Amino acid sequence: MSQKTPVTILGATGSVGQRFVSLLENHPWFEIAKLCASDKSEGKTYAQATNWILSTPIPASIRDRKISSCTPSVKEGLTFSALSSNVAGPIETSYAAQGAKVISCSKNHRMDESVPMVIPEVNGDHIELIHQQKFPHGGYIVTKPNCSVIALCMALKPLLDSFGLEAVSVVTMQAASGAGFPGVPSLALFDNVIPYIEDEEEKMESEPNKIFAKLQNSKLQFLPLSISSSCNRIPVTEGHMEVVSVKLKKKSTLEALKDAWLSWKNPLESFELPSSPTKMIYYFDEPQFPQTRLHRDFDKGMAVHIGRLRKCPILDFKFTLLSHNTLRGAAGGALLTAELLAKKNLL
Ligand code: NAP
Repeated sequence: MSQKTPVTILGATGSVGQRFVSLLENHPWFEIAKLCASDKSEGKTYAQATNWILSTPIPASIRDRKISSCTPSVKEGLTFSALSSNVAGPIETSYAAQGAKVISCSKNHRMDESVPMVIPEVNGDHIELIHQQKFPHGGYIVTKPNCSVIALCMALKPLLDSFGLEAVSVVTMQAASGAGFPGVPSLALFDNVIPYIEDEEEKMESEPNKIFAKLQNSKLQFLPLSISSSCNRIPVTEGHMEVVSVKLKKKSTLEALKDAWLSWKNPLESFELPSSPTKMIYYFDEPQFPQTRLHRDFDKGMAVHIGRLRKCPILDFKFTLLSHNTLRGAAGGALLTAELLAKKNLL
């Protein structure tokens, strides 16, 4: 590609917005054109408006850029939305109506019938739903799933392909950054575990059915899969861990499950997308792995780390997984989706 595609970031000042800024700094295909946030940030420089919480500095080219309001102009282009879900729905619609290709991290449009909810390696084919959207000027909305759901579905996909899935039980331990900035007050979370995250269990129990849906005659046939989830907020900064038990359709063995993960063929392998991890799945035999601090950043923070596979006395098998919530679970996942759209000439 000779010229980089200009990109707008909505919600550029939040924890996911910062990840977009950081990931786009040296992106080979895309470059930041506009940074947008709320009225309280409008007119300030990016450095003034943002509580920067990443360990790398704010990119020098971005520090003094002015924040705009989230008001679309005519002929909007590629637009990443990291808006608070309190406001994301109508703002994203207004951008798509001005021709924007919106890739959203928010929950608002995920379950809309013609809106794909994409994990590129798992259900990249769902992208074709955008052709059913009725926005003028070629605008559309694509979403990425909830951050815990992304990790869960990446781990379940090879098992679904090899054995079929009947039931899943999952308990999450989710990082503080998943609640945005400033998120949960430090005194509420420090030295503590909070056994409730608003709306999270509902998303865990419904989004995988759409992600694993089969596309038949341009309609999604949702996968009938029973999922029970319990979601907890824990005092780590980044990285969601999940303890998963599965009931499979076909009888299997520990070795066969491990082999399904290790031999799973990534359908995007030949695409060479800049944000793709080298491997989507890392499997650990060491019983103490995966661990949040050790593995969350591995392979650009874009992989899922799986370990502790053993038999489950109630369902069939159980294991533990880990993934980075603001990289693969948010900005990195959305960026990978944009790269796939670019590869398919849909930007
Ligand atoms: P956040 O830190 O609270 O950031 C929210 C962003 O929305 C800020 O840039 C804020 O701008 C902007 N905003 C708030 N009200 C606005 C308004 N009325 N008009 C325009 N902009 C407004 O949240 P986050 O954690 O980055 O999450 C962003 C989205 O991604 C959410 O929908 C969240 O559910 C989703 N998500 C988050 C994660 C995660 O791990 N954090 C993972 C997956 C998905 P100001 O700074 O100007 O207020």
